[in-house]
Amino acid sequence: MAKFHAHRNIKLCSKDCLCLFVCPTGATNNETGQIDYDKCIGCGACANACPARAITMMPNVMPPQQKKTEQVIIELFKIVNSKITQNKILNQLLKENKEDEKFLKALIHSNTVMIEDLLRESGYMLPQSKNTNQLLKDIQKNGDNSSKEYATNLLNKINFNE
Ligand code: SF4
Ligand code: SF4
Repeated sequence: MAKFHAHRNIKLCSKDCLCLFVCPTGATNNETGQIDYDKCIGCGACANACPARAITMMPNVMPPQQKKTEQVIIELFKIVNSKITQNKILNQLLKENKEDEKFLKALIHSNTVMIEDLLRESGYMLPQSKNTNQLLKDIQKNGDNSSKEYATNLLNKINFNE
């Protein structure tokens, strides 16, 4: 069984179609722009050929989430909370100050990305983790219809291993 599958980032794809020619199974030739996971055998030829670096090889089974000490989680949330507070202040400034709108919006965006990165890349919210499982279950229970559907699909597809 293949250990990897190819994932295409549509935003980076320059549509020169090299991946179409090198793929031995036709998995990249898909009208939706998404690679057909059922056909992908994980050979990596498309990722090597792609000039835009738009294809990433993803492991089929993610490693278990790294354990975090209580202190690391406390410090992580301190930074996240400070970023949330900054964004509240920036949003207030944005309402009062139209001259610096572009700059303030850029700061808010930067803080938001940093919050996401802190939560994700610190290993606290990997796809296969207990946290993600709980979040998806909450969305499945309380989200709108389309969010519920996405959450259910992800819950069925992800191999949770924590
Ligand atoms: S080779 Fe890369 S840039 Fe070209 S179509 Fe495929 S994914 Fe897009
Ligand atoms: S990894 Fe191989 S089989 Fe999968 S889409 Fe890329 S070229 Fe095709």
